[in-house]
Amino acid sequence: MSALARQPTHLLAAVVLSLALTLAFPALIARAQDAPATESVIYTVAPGDTLFEIAQRFGVTLESLIAANSIANADLLEVGQILVIPSPVDVPEATEPAAAFYAYAQPGETPLSLAQRIGQDAAAIAALNSLPETARLFPGQPVRIPVAHASPDSGAFGAVLNVSRPGSLVQGRTGRVVVDTKRPLDLSADWNGLPIAFTPQEGNPLRQFAFLPVPALLEPVSYPLTIAYPAANGVSLRRTWPVAVVEGDYERQEINLPPDRGVLLAPEIVQEELALVTAVWSQVSPTLLWTEPFSRPIDLEYPTTSPFGTRRSYNGGPYSGYHEGQDFGAPTGVTVTVPADGIVALVEPLNVRGNAVILDHGRGVFTGYWHLEETALQTGQPVAAGDVVGLVGNTGLSTGAHLHWELRIYGIAVDPMQFLEEPFSP
Ligand SMILES: [Zn+2]
Repeated sequence: MSALARQPTHLLAAVVLSLALTLAFPALIARAQDAPATESVIYTVAPGDTLFEIAQRFGVTLESLIAANSIANADLLEVGQILVIPSPVDVPEATEPAAAFYAYAQPGETPLSLAQRIGQDAAAIAALNSLPETARLFPGQPVRIPVAHASPDSGAFGAVLNVSRPGSLVQGRTGRVVVDTKRPLDLSADWNGLPIAFTPQEGNPLRQFAFLPVPALLEPVSYPLTIAYPAANGVSLRRTWPVAVVEGDYERQEINLPPDRGVLLAPEIVQEELALVTAVWSQVSPTLLWTEPFSRPIDLEYPTTSPFGTRRSYNGGPYSGYHEGQDFGAPTGVTVTVPADGIVALVEPLNVRGNAVILDHGRGVFTGYWHLEETALQTGQPVAAGDVVGLVGNTGLSTGAHLHWELRIYGIAVDPMQFLEEPFSP
């Protein structure tokens, strides 16, 4: 019997059963009518569909689907029948990962592009949702994500769909954590007691990233990384993971300072200067100011003479200090350039660092340039990559002309060369 021939019988049955349902489940019908008006999705029934599967596919309850369409008999679906899909029930927010979770399609997305966006397997998503990988999705359409991917490994919790985080980090290097969310969230993180600022990816408020700087002398064990956001009820939802810190491959260097240099390094001079620069690079400005990868601040012909992170012992003491920047050997007068867009945060003649410039690149990322011969920059001035910082010199506590280049994130000195090697731009 064709579907067309069956239809009149079913329509009659539907009317009869609709009445029966109204009588049997008045509360159900009333609830549907009382529900606040929200955006609905229209679905056309395809061959082989059942109401139960459709409800599952759209992440709605069977009851709400029946109520929204005043369906009398769930077994009497017709191919081509139009169903109103009620607003999906939010996945309950909990600190534990849900048994299954949903991603919501953005305009123009297919299961394939959605899978790429949230970093999941497209074939698994397509199979689970009985959709071709290239099917056009409705904006906001809930798409089931395989349960296996909702395991603790995905980092999912509450409205957080995926947390891409490093399993381990190297002393003195910078990690990156990327979080995909169901809706724009006010994310924050705590990395071993250090508050971490998230930045939304340009054009995608559902993806945010943050830098995880690792102090160069941090003991190589595991430390907690906590990601949190305020839920609608005012409760802070959070998850914590251990992130292992592993030892960096840094050299050791013994430095013997002559007695007159010891006078220059009087503790109060060092401390006062440190307080001044620390006050500058401890700030976290609201926007990330660069979009391109960092460029080398000095021409390639001037090589590294002392890399970042070298452990230093002074006059036979313990290796309790380290080189907080990268030194490039160059004669006085060589041009130093801005590696990435930013704002000039400090221009000062200092005792230890000499003529110093600090640039603010936004979101807690700063670069420093010490021992300059001169600079024409002024505090508060915006700078673009390639602009002149100043000229190499031998000012301050320096035993020969060179550029000391430093990169700080939330005040923590990290290897600046990593920003030349890896695409850290958003
Ligand atoms: Zn140096």
